[in-house]
Amino acid sequence: MTLTTAQADYDAFRAQGLKLDMSRGKPAPEQLDLSNDLLGPLGDHLATDGTDTRNYGGGIGLPEARALFASLLDQPVANVIVDSNASLSLMHDVIVYHLLHGAPDQPSWLSQKPVKFLCPVPGYDRHFSICLSLGIEMINVRLNDDGPDMDQVEALVANDPAIKGMWCVPKYANPSGAVYSDAAVTRLANMKTAAADFRLMWDDAYRLHHLTTSPCDVANILSACEAAGHADRAFIFASTSKITLAGAGMAAMAASASNLQWWQKHANIRSIGPDKVNQLRHVRFLKDRANVEALMMRHQAILRPKFDAVLAQFEAHLSGIAEVSWTHPNGGYFIDLQTPPGFAKKTVELAKAAGITLTPAGAAFPYGKDPQDRHIRIAPSFPSLGDITEAAKGIALCLKLALAS
Ligand code: PMP
Repeated sequence: MTLTTAQADYDAFRAQGLKLDMSRGKPAPEQLDLSNDLLGPLGDHLATDGTDTRNYGGGIGLPEARALFASLLDQPVANVIVDSNASLSLMHDVIVYHLLHGAPDQPSWLSQKPVKFLCPVPGYDRHFSICLSLGIEMINVRLNDDGPDMDQVEALVANDPAIKGMWCVPKYANPSGAVYSDAAVTRLANMKTAAADFRLMWDDAYRLHHLTTSPCDVANILSACEAAGHADRAFIFASTSKITLAGAGMAAMAASASNLQWWQKHANIRSIGPDKVNQLRHVRFLKDRANVEALMMRHQAILRPKFDAVLAQFEAHLSGIAEVSWTHPNGGYFIDLQTPPGFAKKTVELAKAAGITLTPAGAAFPYGKDPQDRHIRIAPSFPSLGDITEAAKGIALCLKLALAS
């Protein structure tokens, strides 16, 4: 394509005066509407064990909330706690407790500085923000379609005792949609780590968020770690943020008995108990796993056409261009658009000038630095179907202009 044509197409697009914020993977209003019944009166406020949810206490969550998450996470109830309005705060606190107090029977991470984490890339920017804010050094490892590059991971953790943890989004990873294979899970559970207090931060944010009718499964990391003799290695995190209300839901953590005891000891200092009224409200609304899965199908019915629209626009405008590719996720909230090296930032800038705010180029990498400047995170969920179709076309035109300039 010539520069003149690319410029003319871009100018025509920009002239529409579109104003769209696609920087975050937020549920659309019609998805939030699916849970409007949560907002009605609760009726009585007693949990099944007679707990008055209006009062303090119940640090590990209501029994029925723990039972629901146990069923959603395929874990024994004894290994699940429910706390907080969203899971990111649980991840943050697990890391802070390790830094300040250390893992059970281990010195604090702060007394063993430097502290380093492995970060499969591209990855979730808020994981990287936690590390940045807490002074944890980040090391990029390649994320393939079936999980992290395990040869790289094994070599790194075997030799450096400062590597204390690793971020993992095992299913429909943000932003690439990668799904960890059984082999990757087994190797993560079994690998020899130089650090005795190495932790897998297993962020199962998209466990139930399928975009197809044939959902995939990821092996059970807690069982795999236990079988490998590393029962305390993994912490699993999940929430109802993209099931009911984003940031106004319930979050859960699953871990070994000793890790949960350790958690409680520290969490009891931080809070006199979680929001049990919200937990009761959620359990009464969500009921059981079958009902949650039915709700997720209703989310899928809203989301799938938006993902299809983006893929169709990219196909129409970008197919055949050398070194341009994009993911076709089977679940989750994102598409990862890859430009030829050196063109992501410029494309995002052109989109901004045309009224489309995207996640900053580089955000999916530690320190905001995409070494090749190639990745653009596309978040199709929030805009209407009409807007997302236009926006995807616009992004494609921006990339074409960037390439032609
Ligand atoms: N983990 C991942 C991978 C995410 O993409 C998101 C939301 N964008 C979160 C966690 C946030 O979850 P929560 O609302 O439970 O904090």
